Amino acid sequence: MCFNAVMQQSLVFTDLDGTLLDDRYDLAGAADALDQVHAMGAVAIPVSSKTRAEMLLLRRHQRHPTPFVFENGAGIDWGDAQHWAPEMSTMPSGMTLHGLGYAQLCQRLIRLRNELDINFCGFSELSAEKVAELTKLSLVDAGLAKRRTASEPLVWLDDQQSVAKLKQALAKHDLLLQKGGRFYTATSLRQKNDAVSEIIALLNKQSWRPRRVIVCGDSPNDLSMLALADMALLFSDTVSDHGDTPGLRKRMKEYLINAANPPEVLEVNGAGHESWLTAIDSSLSDLKQN
Ligand SMILES: [Mg+2]
Repeated sequence: MCFNAVMQQSLVFTDLDGTLLDDRYDLAGAADALDQVHAMGAVAIPVSSKTRAEMLLLRRHQRHPTPFVFENGAGIDWGDAQHWAPEMSTMPSGMTLHGLGYAQLCQRLIRLRNELDINFCGFSELSAEKVAELTKLSLVDAGLAKRRTASEPLVWLDDQQSVAKLKQALAKHDLLLQKGGRFYTATSLRQKNDAVSEIIALLNKQSWRPRRVIVCGDSPNDLSMLALADMALLFSDTVSDHGDTPGLRKRMKEYLINAANPPEVLEVNGAGHESWLTAIDSSLSDLKQN
């Protein structure tokens, strides 16, 4: 495979569930796909609503570990002296965290539930067994999903009136309710795009500067970072999805077309590391030809 400068200076941000991962939850396959992007000379960074504990499992499979963004942008784990971008001089290590602490966030949610008289339950109130049953994760993985620092997924928040009421009440406290693939999640006013912007700004100060940014996602909580892309890849897992997939994708596309700097939008039918790598390979090859 041959590369050109733009291809080598491409930066890829990717959601995990419903995008790089599908229902098989193949972390080894996902890590190998990330490593293949590294081999192409680009840099691929996972950005997920998952916890740091869950995302560390993926990093352990990577031969070329990268930073990752966890809990919808609340935190960035930079790793420890990782050489993830070429020719970098100084890069951060360790972890950065923003927003309200988890215990305070959960207390506020319980108070609002009582005040608004609506029905939902946070992961902090559920056993690992119940989280495993609701998410179809293994019991061990459900335990990792409960190790949260700054965001709370809510289950049984089923009717749109309750969603609207909670959203409005949270906004008064500078908190946000976002829809992921399966659940609504409450966080501080920091989204995936905030963490992505922080990483791009940092790289722009280095000798290795991203010339093209590709962002991959499938859900409304990916829109903020998809809108920052030069090229936005919209995934839809047609095998496991049983919701309003065509309608959702249409609304997401409309949002992106109307963004301040609209990205080029490509639709990808499928999810999982094979579909993901094919889509990335073809996007990088397009750059090579342009
Ligand atoms: Mg997703």
